[in-house]
Amino acid sequence: MSPPLPAPDIWSVALPVPLPRRFDYRPIEGHIPAAADIGCRVRVPFGARELIGVITGVGPAEEGGPELKSARALLDATPVLEGELLESLRWLARYTHAPLGEVLAAALPTLLRHGEELPDTRSWGWRLTEAAATARFRPGRPQQLAERLAAGAVSEDALDADMQDWRTAARALASRGLAERVAVTTLATGAAEPGPELNEEQRAALAAVLEARGGFATLLLDGVTGSGKTEVYLQAIVDCLARGQQALVLVPEIGLTPQTLARFRSRLGVPVHALHSGLSDGERARTWTACLRGEAQVIVGTRSAAFLPLPRAGLIVIDEEHDGSYKQLDGLRYHARDFLLVRGKALGVPVLLGSATPSLESLRNAELGRYTHLRLRHRAGVAQPPRVRVIDVRKRPLQAGLSPEMVDAIATTLTAGGQALVFKNRRGYAPVLLCHDCGWTAHCARCSTETQGTPMTVHAQGRRLQCHHCGARRGAPNACPDCGGLALQPQGAGTERIEELLSAQFPTIPVLRIDRGTTQRRDALEQLLGTFGDAPGILVGTQMLAKGHDLPNLALVAVVGIDEGLFSADFRAPEKLAQLLIQVAGRAGRAQRAGEVLLQTHHPGHPLLHTLLEGGYHAFASIELAQREAAAFPPFGHLALLRAEAQRIEVAEHFLRTAREQFELTEVQLHGPLPAPMPRRAGYQRMQLLISSPERRSLHAALDAVLPSIYESPDARKVRWSLDVDPVDLY
Ligand code: ADP
Ligand code: ZN
Ligand code: ZN
Repeated sequence: MSPPLPAPDIWSVALPVPLPRRFDYRPIEGHIPAAADIGCRVRVPFGARELIGVITGVGPAEEGGPELKSARALLDATPVLEGELLESLRWLARYTHAPLGEVLAAALPTLLRHGEELPDTRSWGWRLTEAAATARFRPGRPQQLAERLAAGAVSEDALDADMQDWRTAARALASRGLAERVAVTTLATGAAEPGPELNEEQRAALAAVLEARGGFATLLLDGVTGSGKTEVYLQAIVDCLARGQQALVLVPEIGLTPQTLARFRSRLGVPVHALHSGLSDGERARTWTACLRGEAQVIVGTRSAAFLPLPRAGLIVIDEEHDGSYKQLDGLRYHARDFLLVRGKALGVPVLLGSATPSLESLRNAELGRYTHLRLRHRAGVAQPPRVRVIDVRKRPLQAGLSPEMVDAIATTLTAGGQALVFKNRRGYAPVLLCHDCGWTAHCARCSTETQGTPMTVHAQGRRLQCHHCGARRGAPNACPDCGGLALQPQGAGTERIEELLSAQFPTIPVLRIDRGTTQRRDALEQLLGTFGDAPGILVGTQMLAKGHDLPNLALVAVVGIDEGLFSADFRAPEKLAQLLIQVAGRAGRAQRAGEVLLQTHHPGHPLLHTLLEGGYHAFASIELAQREAAAFPPFGHLALLRAEAQRIEVAEHFLRTAREQFELTEVQLHGPLPAPMPRRAGYQRMQLLISSPERRSLHAALDAVLPSIYESPDARKVRWSLDVDPVDLY
């Protein structure tokens, strides 16, 4: 008897499809699969389509298994995802219960996901040749490009950003010998500037970070705004660079300002790579590749920078670790901070979490001794802590939501040559349009149910209505659709209305409104703030103003309309509100001038405000932690939220009921299915099932047991469903 023939070797490929399984293919002609293929991209047939996937395993084909298709092309000679990063992404797929192929696709920059070659990591640009000096141009694109280049070389990214079809023009110039392509260093680097001498608390913090070098540790740098946390990061990075290692700094979307980058660049004296949503696909792919090749030494990036390869990692810093923007709320629902903690452990490097208002999770971990707790209690340098005063506005007349005291305080600040910031976390003109005759209010037809109306926000001084949940827009009616009356009135105030009032009150003073309505793009925000300057002026805005661009002449922070947040049903609302208040207040008085914070409320005796003002954030946090413990909410209990949306509510409910039946066989607590707090959005009915357990392990055991059958179930195709492990809010 002859032994059975060895099974042919195959590639296991993770594909970006919503199925949590691997797909096996025969390799391309003449290629013998080897472990070295793992992490390379391949192009494979999939149904009638072709997809790009990543090889995640090699091995013998299943005996008697189906006839396998062959892969069409191997796209990489060496892996793009390997070692620690690939293993960490496998962990992330297990933890979020997302298909591995979708996780890997999310980690790759768009161009690589689409199968393009790894880019050249040198930067290229164009400049004019000497011949151009005497050349004559006819009006047209080449002439425009020549004008653009007249002052010196311009990078291709810059040209991509602001000139259409410049490549054709560049070719035309090049063919006449008038322009040439050159490698440019876009990031001028000079000598590192020295920083201030660290104070005692900073020195102790830095010593703890340096002590942790060469192994995994989590350090919580808990320091008030302006206490010099960034100085500690910078010095720790200097040490990391001296050892030839890479440092990754994660910052919130709104915190990655040109000011921040300039500070890092001037202090470190090496190229600092930025990764944020404003980059072109080409730029992102280049930064990613520079990291993969170990060329990028310092990277400052927002959430998705958590996916950068770090073959020479030495330090991970997460600034404002409590920030909500680190959690992705759709698609792959991951938390960048939590993922980087897992990566830090796998990489064997310290992870430094910084915040003036640490998350309750991190404070609890510090309390348990899992994190080293480092405190910076005082502002560094000359800055004074702001004075905080509560204004009780009960029974007081309000104009656009502002009390007379508030307007007076703004006037005083302006007269003294300072700037004032008015914080209102609601954009638009007014949150509700009401008929004073019959009580009708304008609701969004796509987001309201018979019993629960979702008001449309009034914009453009009352002329337009907009739904902030689904984006629906329409003109405001002239007469009430119900009673025909003409008494339609905007109720309450948003940033637009406050801007209108203040412009009228202070006609000679610039009033600048900052919210998502005025600044769709980050650079627009920067430009606006850049033009604002140091002269007396008023900023009105939403939480976009809570951090970012530093305003040294800001003397008064006026906080209005936080009362809604005091009574929100979401279990994280108090934490978010406390953090927001402290962050906004921290903007006042960052320079010599002592700052003042005025807090206007109808509930001056509310325990949250009271605790926060008397005892500060940490007093608030310990009370809040006790309440979380009593309610078995995170960090004392662990949650996952299964959401389902369908046009008919029965369909969503049936899907979740079936899921619930299966979870009942496991050891978790179940709540629901219930309508979501926002029960309808953009025409879809929304239901949710909350799954909880005091033990993380039993929660994940239950998810492991049930999720496969949810993916397989025919009902799953009739609804839009998602699983959110560790949801940050229950909406
Ligand atoms: P944070 O990151 O905690 O908000 P920063 O590091 O930005 O604080 O420091 C706030 C300000 O204080 C900055 O202008 C910084 O240059 C300055 N600063 C920080 N540490 C010192 C120090 N030890 N001596 C003098 N000035 C300092
Ligand atoms: Zn009416
Ligand atoms: Zn809507």
